[in-house]
Amino acid sequence: LPEAAVESLQPEDVAALLPRPTPDAQKYTRGVVGVRAGSEQYPGAALLSVAGAASGLAGMVRYVGAAADTVREVHPEVVGDGRVQAWVVGSGGGEHAGDELAAALADGVPTVVDADALAHVDGLLPAGTVLTPHAGELAAMLRVDRDGVEARPLHHARHAATKYGCVVLLKGRHTLVATPDGRVRVTTTGTPWLATAGAGDVLGGLVGALLAAGLAAYDAASVGSWLHGAAATLAGRGGPLVASQVAASIPLAVRSLPER
Ligand code: AMP
Ligand code: MG
Repeated sequence: LPEAAVESLQPEDVAALLPRPTPDAQKYTRGVVGVRAGSEQYPGAALLSVAGAASGLAGMVRYVGAAADTVREVHPEVVGDGRVQAWVVGSGGGEHAGDELAAALADGVPTVVDADALAHVDGLLPAGTVLTPHAGELAAMLRVDRDGVEARPLHHARHAATKYGCVVLLKGRHTLVATPDGRVRVTTTGTPWLATAGAGDVLGGLVGALLAAGLAAYDAASVGSWLHGAAATLAGRGGPLVASQVAASIPLAVRSLPER
């Protein structure tokens, strides 16, 4: 594949794509994102998915799942079940992940599929879906070994996008976002300090918020990945960080964008 086929978003591109509230905005018109994540064993994954979704980029966040009490305590602005414009499914979902994925897809809205839900993906998905595997998860989905995915991430991301008919965001040192028609964006922000538990959960929530706010799947995935990396760099200032700090720094990353 020629290098030229891979696009890297510039801060000006992210600024131009970012959904912003109009003066007459209402919370519902800004988009409602729903999170189906977490389980009794993994309430933290629910908290971090919700924290990414509650970045302020959508108008409202709903949570459905086994960690509802914990989510309510930590995020008082989050509400329960109801209509959404996008779903985020899978982080820490454990044995519930397959059912949660089916419920989200049955709603017919764009959906971010992460972590445990990826194991339940089988065949073509709606074009508005964003899959967010790391190399190990993508290897398991494609039944190849992880080393192979790490050696040729571009090939495998594009192959998966074609196979599943949707956007694939392959996480790692260089995050790639691929579409079924062959477009690819690479994320240039970020830091190796992002290799920390829960960082991916935050990213899924953030991409879901951008989908709910009206971005197309390809733009939501690539803008989300760009902001996630920028938030990590701002949170850690080049040093260590934990996932909740990345979520808390998303507004800072948005404010760091050039003026439109
Ligand atoms: P997950 O494995 O689901 O927790 O996601 C990990 C997050 O950290 C993703 O956003 C990755 O892109 C990012 N990440 C992991 N390792 C690295 C690395 N070596 N350099 C930069 N980002 C990384
Ligand atoms: Mg993960």
